Parts: sequence; C-alpha cells; structure tokens
Amino acid sequence: MIILVINAGSSSVKFTIFDMADQKKVLASGLIERIGIEGTSMKYTNFRGEEVKGEVPVKNPKDAVKIITERLLDARVGVLKSMSDIKAIGHRVVQGMEKIIEPVLLDEKAKTIVRECGVLAPLHNPHNLMGIEACEAVLPGVPNVGVFDTAFHSTMPSRAFLYALPYKYYEEDHIRRYGFHGTSHGFVAKAAAALDGRPLNSLKIITAHLGNGCSLAAVKNGQCQDTSMGLTPLEGVIMGTRSGDLDASAVLYIMKKDGLTPDQADNLLNKKSGVLGLASIGSSDLRDVEAEANKGNKLCAQALEVFAYRVKKYIGSYMAALGGLDILVFTAGVGENSSTMRAAICQDLEGIGLKLDAQKNSVRSPEPRVVSTGDSPIKIHVIPTNEELAIAEATLKLVG
Ligand code: AMP
Repeated sequence: MIILVINAGSSSVKFTIFDMADQKKVLASGLIERIGIEGTSMKYTNFRGEEVKGEVPVKNPKDAVKIITERLLDARVGVLKSMSDIKAIGHRVVQGMEKIIEPVLLDEKAKTIVRECGVLAPLHNPHNLMGIEACEAVLPGVPNVGVFDTAFHSTMPSRAFLYALPYKYYEEDHIRRYGFHGTSHGFVAKAAAALDGRPLNSLKIITAHLGNGCSLAAVKNGQCQDTSMGLTPLEGVIMGTRSGDLDASAVLYIMKKDGLTPDQADNLLNKKSGVLGLASIGSSDLRDVEAEANKGNKLCAQALEVFAYRVKKYIGSYMAALGGLDILVFTAGVGENSSTMRAAICQDLEGIGLKLDAQKNSVRSPEPRVVSTGDSPIKIHVIPTNEELAIAEATLKLVG
C-alpha cells in the first residue's frame, strides 16, 4: 500500500511517499519551501537517488500538493504509474488538545476540531489544515489521516499536566501542559524496547528528542507520564532559539523595561533565545557553537554547558517521576549526531546508573545503537527518529 505523508507548515510543505508493502521503502521525499515568499523552491529525491531542485510556481499549499503529485508521476523522476496508486495520506497535525488523542480519519467533524484546536497552536494547526484541504482538492476520494504531536502525551496524569494557576484557566480555557514531538517520542520508545529485546510494556524509558526543538518524555510501560514541553513548545529544556523554562516574572520584567508587546515578547522567547541567545554568535546550530567553543569562545562553551545541564536535570527528575529507569534514549539532530553533547549530558551520572561507553559513543552511525557500557545498570541508546514513517504506520493501521 502506498502512503503519502504530508507535513504542511507556515511556508513549507514536506512530503515522503512510502511503499508500505515493500518493506516500508521510501519511494521519494522532499520539500517545497518559501511558499508565499519570493524564491519558492522545491527539492525532490527519489529512491533511485535522482534529484530535482529549483524554483517552482507555487503560491499556496494546493499548488504545492499539485506539483508534488506531478513529480511523483513524472516520466523521468517519478515513482508512481497513476495518482490512484496513493491509497492514503497521513498528515502531521500539531495540536489536538484533549479532543483528539489518537490518529483519526480527517472527516468534516475532525477537521472542525483541528480548526478549534488552532486557538492554542495558531502558527501550526491552520497550516496543517490547509495541507489537508489541499490534498482533498488534488487527490479527491483518498482518505486523509491526522497524526497529532500531542496525542502520545495524552496519557500524562493531571499531576504532570496541570499548571498551578487558578483552576478556571484549565477548566474554561484549557490551559495545561500538552507536550509536542509525541510522534517521535512514541516511535523511539518503541524502537528502544525492540533494540533491547524487552517488551515496551515492561520498561521505564526516558526519551530525549534533542534537535532544533528539544523535549524529553518519561515513558512507563509505553505510556507517557510526563514531558518537558507544555502548553506550547516553549517550555522545558533549552533549544536552538527557544528559552525553555524560565521564571515568568523575568518575562514580565523585560516586557515592562523594554516596552515589548506580547508578540514581541513571544518573538524574543521563541526566536531569539536558547542556544542562539546564550552563544551570541548569530547561529543556533549546535555544530557552529561546538566549533566556536573548540576555538576558545567562552560564551559558546557556556551555552553548551547550560544546555547539557538542563537536560541532565530533566533526566534526574524523570527518573524520580518514573521510580527508576531502564533505558535513556537520545534522538533527533543533536541527540543522534553530537557525541560531545551526549557525553556532556551523561557526565557524572555513573552514580545513578548511567555509564556511557566513550568508544561506542564516538561511533557515527545511522542505525539504532547502544552507547552504554556492558555493565551499565541503565542502558543508553541512540535511536534515529523517523516521524514520517511513524505517521505512515499510523495511517496504514487506520485505513489498512
Ligand atoms: P532536527 O531539528 O532534529 O533536524 O535537528 C537539527 C539540529 O541538529 C541542527 O540545528 C543542529 O543544531 C543539530 N545537529 C545536526 N547535526 C549535528 C552534529 N553533527 N553535531 C551537533 N549538532 C548537530
């Protein structure tokens, strides 16, 4: 069965097409970016390694889906014989609140909920919805399935998801912690159990998704108990450009002092803070910050230290929340690729059962792997995440 996965953002549409019957093979993938801005371009790669790059006349998500299907059917670089080969489309949707807690068929009722949930994800859900409607228009009759970032975290108990605000803000305005990256946390937790050879429903796992956005999740018996992102993806550990946890009063102070509007404060916290803000070299990419730190830049070295320390503290607190730990998993851009960051996070954690093997940790590989020592009481894994595959699998399960 051939499944198309779509991730529609504010100015980009990413796509991957899988042949689930042929070992879940990726037939083609790519993205269209700068939609609605000058210089809209497309990158397309098929399983034969053929690549097409260049500007495309795309003004909106519908144009984008149209051009994606044209490439998929192209005589030279295409991978499909007919549009009817596509049996279902899986969509990444960011916010489902407490209303959608598992993959759903995106009928009118579900789409209305996606629209309503946009109140808490105004930068994401409306764009996700545009991607869904574009697919309905270009591929009529093909079922669309929504896979929600927040869904995996819906098992969090109220002690973990409530903010200590007047209760009416939860009851009336649905202000609570929801968490994000759920598809990734669920995928790597399952893969870690498979790598370990023990059933997921017998394990205590902490998943550390450290990419441009970063979050951790505490997973017991396959169910999320807590996660570091909250109402929005701003809460938790330090990220590329987001501050993570801070005293709310600091924000109020800065707003008053600099006369910032709520939108300006939002921009400061989400786009100018985190590693970008602390390192002060104009880049949020950990590779650049690591390179500068190696050259002796003290602010960069300090930013890396703050980043690692915050993750370390979350690991400790989630071990307490879970009442122990079997596996710590690193995933996403930083988690999968930065052996120095993994080492910094795990430094001095031997006493609580996490022994990183320096040699195994230094090996680069795209495969899931164990990087703890043979005698480490708690295993440490590096598991490449694959949210697109997880969405395709969930879509197949629902429509298959
Ligand atoms: P993601 O959001 O998962 O795509 O992760 C992207 C981020 O991963 C980049 O912005 C980098 O900060 C980081 N990254 C990717 N490769 C490396 C690497 N080899 N070493 C350190 N950081 C990396």
